[in-house]
Amino acid sequence: MTDQTNLFATAQQQLDEAASVIALDAAAHQLLRWPLRELHVTLPVKMDNGTTQIFHGFRVQHNDARGPNKGGIRFHPDETIDTIRALAAWMTWKTALLDIPLGGGKGGIICNPKTMSSGELERLSRAYIRQLGSFLGPDKDIPAPDVYTSPQIMAWMLDEYSTMQGKNKFGVITGKPLALGGSAGRGDATARGGIFCIREAADTLGLNLAGARAAIQGYGNAGSFAHKLCVELLGMKVVALSDSKGSIYNPEGFLYPALLAHKQQTGSVTGFPGAEVISDSELLKLEVTVLFPAALESVITAKNAPDIRAKIIAELANGATTPEADTILHHNGVYLIPDLLCNAGGVTVSWFEMVQNAYGYYWQEEEVHQHLEKKMKAAFHSMQQAAQTRKVHNRMAAYIVAIERVAEAMKLRGWY
Ligand code: GLU
Repeated sequence: MTDQTNLFATAQQQLDEAASVIALDAAAHQLLRWPLRELHVTLPVKMDNGTTQIFHGFRVQHNDARGPNKGGIRFHPDETIDTIRALAAWMTWKTALLDIPLGGGKGGIICNPKTMSSGELERLSRAYIRQLGSFLGPDKDIPAPDVYTSPQIMAWMLDEYSTMQGKNKFGVITGKPLALGGSAGRGDATARGGIFCIREAADTLGLNLAGARAAIQGYGNAGSFAHKLCVELLGMKVVALSDSKGSIYNPEGFLYPALLAHKQQTGSVTGFPGAEVISDSELLKLEVTVLFPAALESVITAKNAPDIRAKIIAELANGATTPEADTILHHNGVYLIPDLLCNAGGVTVSWFEMVQNAYGYYWQEEEVHQHLEKKMKAAFHSMQQAAQTRKVHNRMAAYIVAIERVAEAMKLRGWY
């Protein structure tokens, strides 16, 4: 893997740049370049065909100066320790930017969940928690869903952890089903948080979103809810969509219920009646008001960034844009809402879920939305202010706000 595609090198490069803008203390900077802890696990899992398959996984705890480590678990065939390190660091910055009393962590298992049965996924999820058990806890490290993990997987993991502890520990994991201590509003929280940011960005830019066009790259949890909420809350037209099987276009806009039903029936957005087939790279270059990268990392690069014609990029995916592309987009006047802010609705409602678990008292969905909106707006404006005073692009501004908060906590603890 080259440095260009090594996500951890990207995360370190972003930190280095922000650290130099604020002249961060050298020891604090070095400390923040690396995770505080990481665990590598090897997992034997009985497969349906009677064989035992060995899987490898990780959990990285980047920094817990501001509170317990927090972050999702990914199931992906291309998972690497460096990807997880980067994603854990981004969780530290995300929780700090949102001013949530949590740190940053991330986990992953190298596997292809698309080829595994439900029973195999359950045994894999339980094996992971058996290995990680002593590393986790509501006051240590709290996982959540991420790429290709679901509320059902969180439920198995919660059950395994609670069995190991001999008592129910609902607060050890978030993104759980409602019947097992999940929070109302967690399902669409990532997309909803992004929509709140787009509203603020449009206000700043003086853009009218009603009837304006959006394109969504990726149609998983975040991407599909972005489609729904773009139409329902912003009155936008979603003219292009994609998933791992391809991209489709319709200048009239796609209706959410029909598209979702098609995806559920066929397993893909492709083949939707009346849609024009376009290439994945054409989707990224469409003339739209908002482009949502909502799939995997390193999608917007130095190669395609010069051709991007969106006015706003809303990064629902973590690590969607490379540092080289950031510079190009900034230079071209594209307003980027960075992942640290744009997709932070997920972890914010995860925090609400932990709070509700601790109290044993659950909020109405409306209350969750109101608290989320307040948090997202506050974080948006702290980023915006830092961008203006420091004269940097939005990602750097988000980093600066976050680093200053984490550095203050580390200083107060006497870590440097
Ligand atoms: N996986 C999500 C993220 O990257 C959510 C993490 C969480 O809820 O802890 O922000």
